[in-house]
Amino acid sequence: VDIARFRRRAARRKAGLAAFLQKLDAIVPEGFDEVVTAADTATWAEVDCTTCANCCKTMTPTYTTADVKRIAAHLGMTPIAFRKKWLYKEEETGDWMNRQQPCQFLRPDNLCGIYDVRPADCAEFPHHNKRPFDDYNDTYLGNLDKCPATMELVSKLKATVERDFEW
Ligand code: SF4
Ligand code: SF4
Repeated sequence: VDIARFRRRAARRKAGLAAFLQKLDAIVPEGFDEVVTAADTATWAEVDCTTCANCCKTMTPTYTTADVKRIAAHLGMTPIAFRKKWLYKEEETGDWMNRQQPCQFLRPDNLCGIYDVRPADCAEFPHHNKRPFDDYNDTYLGNLDKCPATMELVSKLKATVERDFEW
């Protein structure tokens, strides 16, 4: 993934894709979940996360209590020591987040150093498997200029819906 090129494309496309997602909030075409599944498969044939890692470099996961317990045990630390070393508590939400970006567990080869025990939030990102898909429109909207896979998926969905549906 060429991140500089992605950023330029995202800047050009964002308004149109955001308008598409907003319309999708109000009207969902019939059989849309099948359209999403096909477009998502095509997206992952084009996007390789190991050449990107933009999420791990520019965003933070939210750590649940179970995440902290599991990862701390994996690292031979107590949950308290783990939080103290790597996390901060967001005042408004009370969520535990990474203090630093890129994520401290991202390896130089763009792979996750704690992949088997990574936070659930990381395992689910970029949430393309969530159904009904349109329940997560705000998430995709927020990630359009952060995740090349999400931008590609929403671009494909917009093109398909505009071509194949009376919408
Ligand atoms: S999930 Fe998105 S941002 Fe993260 S590595 Fe894959 S394409 Fe890049
Ligand atoms: S824990 Fe792993 S997958 Fe999650 S942000 Fe850090 S490096 Fe990326």
